[in-house]
Parts: sequence; structure tokens; C-alpha cells
Amino acid sequence: MCPPKILREGTRKTVFVNFMESCKTLRRDPNHVMDFFLSEMATSGSIDGQNRLVIKGRFAPKSFESILRRYINAYVICNGCKGHDTTITKENRLFFLRCEQCGSSRSVDRIKAGFVAHVGRRNA
Ligand SMILES: [Zn+2]
Repeated sequence: MCPPKILREGTRKTVFVNFMESCKTLRRDPNHVMDFFLSEMATSGSIDGQNRLVIKGRFAPKSFESILRRYINAYVICNGCKGHDTTITKENRLFFLRCEQCGSSRSVDRIKAGFVAHVGRRNA
């Protein structure tokens, strides 16, 4: 797993430079990974034209690392064999993590997307 490369842009934005690369390595939908980061950081952000994740606010590279680690634990690692060779599928509005190595599967939580109202209020 390559560590996140983090840049500060101005005083109010933080940029996850190799965001797409990380998503590709994990084989996860960038929007799903982004939702997780924004929800954990309780902020807003978007993917820019250079495929970087631009986040509102100042965050240390360490926060990105620990959130990425939490994401991997929750949505990538197989509980059975601890492998990373997994995919997420949606069935009847539930998400399942399936391991291609040992064939085990478990349900995973939906990402809570309550941050939008939160940020709007703070910036008002
Ligand atoms: Zn497995």
C-alpha cells in the first residue's frame, strides 16, 4: 500500500495527490473512497481535473494515513484470510465484501453521508 501524498493548497485546502492511484491499488470506486474521507473528516471536497482529491480544511498527512487504514480495514480486507483481493457488491441495498482468494464474504456498512448539512451550517 503506497502512503498518501499530501499537499496543502493555500490555507484552506488539503490535496490528496495520489488519490486515484490508491483507489486503483485497492480496486475501489473513487467516489466510495471519497465519501468515506469526507464523512470521517466531516468536511466537503471533490476530485479535481488532475484526479486529485481536494478537501476543504487543513489536515495532516497522518490523518489521511489513518483514515485510509480505517477504510482498508472496513472495506478492503477479508476477515477470513486477511487478503486484499476483494470486491464490493451490492445486493438488495446491502453491501457485501467478497474475497476472491478464500471465497468468504461479509456485509459492510454504508458510509454515513451526514456531512453536507454540517459543513453548510459551519460556513454560513
Ligand atoms: Zn479471504
